[in-house]
Amino acid sequence: MRKRYRDTTLEWLLGDKDKPFEYTHHAVLLFTVFLYVLAASVNYYFDLANIYNIGLQMFISLMVVVIWYLSRWKNQFQTMRFLFILVIVLVSIPANWVGNGGSDGPTYLLIFGSLIYISVSFKDLGIFRRLGQLFCIIIPIPLMVLEKLHPELIFKYGDPELKQLDLLITFIIMAVFSIVMMGSLSTRFKLERHKAERLAEKLRSLSEKDYLTGLYNRRILDKEYMAWTQQNQVFSLALLDLDHFKHQNDQWGHNYGDEILKSFSALLQETASRNKGLAIRQGGEEFVLLLPLSLDDTYRELKYLAESFRTTDLAHGPVTFSAGIAENTATDNQNDLLKRADKLMYQAKDAGRNRICR
Ligand code: GH3
Ligand code: MG
Ligand code: MG
Repeated sequence: MRKRYRDTTLEWLLGDKDKPFEYTHHAVLLFTVFLYVLAASVNYYFDLANIYNIGLQMFISLMVVVIWYLSRWKNQFQTMRFLFILVIVLVSIPANWVGNGGSDGPTYLLIFGSLIYISVSFKDLGIFRRLGQLFCIIIPIPLMVLEKLHPELIFKYGDPELKQLDLLITFIIMAVFSIVMMGSLSTRFKLERHKAERLAEKLRSLSEKDYLTGLYNRRILDKEYMAWTQQNQVFSLALLDLDHFKHQNDQWGHNYGDEILKSFSALLQETASRNKGLAIRQGGEEFVLLLPLSLDDTYRELKYLAESFRTTDLAHGPVTFSAGIAENTATDNQNDLLKRADKLMYQAKDAGRNRICR
């Protein structure tokens, strides 16, 4: 219950967890707001900065809230991550330099954090990413020049302990931030790897399976034949061909022909699954059953299959098939086996169809 409450709150604030990029980005935005409000409050309470600086900090946090709102609720993630980084590099970093001790303060850490943020978050933005990185690398130079020319502009720490504290806090925040950023990067890699794996699996299935019937296509036969012979497995191969199928097509249309093929394939698949075998569409209305059974057991299975198919409810009456079965022998190769089954199947056709020869 509490977990669900937390999840809905997080989703409301950060968006869909399956978009780790946007999710982390929104977390960064809200974290930035939190930091700025905290910094402004501390500065105000302990009288650590002048009122302009505090005002600027409040202004930045307000801007980041607007950026978060537009990104999270108005679908402007792309534009808003640009705007955010502009606010950070053009406003936040210079203001921090001026308001927090200049080259003596924690701004270098902030710049380093921004560099990591740009490197991770602009990963897909080529030239902008490079520009952002370059900007982070050289921004201390003009700031340093400004500090040299107008030292009176820079807020100096009165108390060295205050400076140590400021550095420590900023360091801890930036360290945590770096960890979060790297976590988001690895989550993204994981998601992309899963996507690639799913795609590879789909491609594999597409290349091995027949689109109409969902059975394996003939490509699988070589692989399976190899595997089964290597395991010294007893097995038989049945070649099945629908009878007068052309007639069905001509009489009732190609779509109806497809329906017959699908019904027959479903029965073949059932037979194969029941026996831990394999049902293959060899092409057209010709099928192969590879069953880890003896000749006699395979014959029994096919008899049962013929009966099931005969009683299948087809719109224009029952369709039959002819089949030849051959059992694999030690001296067989795949071609021999197929040839023997094929010969037997043609015997069945010649003998008047609707029968099984072995
Ligand atoms: P036989 O009893 O001698 O096997 O005669 P048959 O008519 O079944 O055999 P034939 O080889 O003359 O015809 C097979 C037909 O199968 C021809 C072809 O149009 C049809 N066919 C092949 N693939 C498909 C398909 O995917 N869908 C449909 N509907 N028909 C197909
Ligand atoms: Mg046929
Ligand atoms: Mg045929």
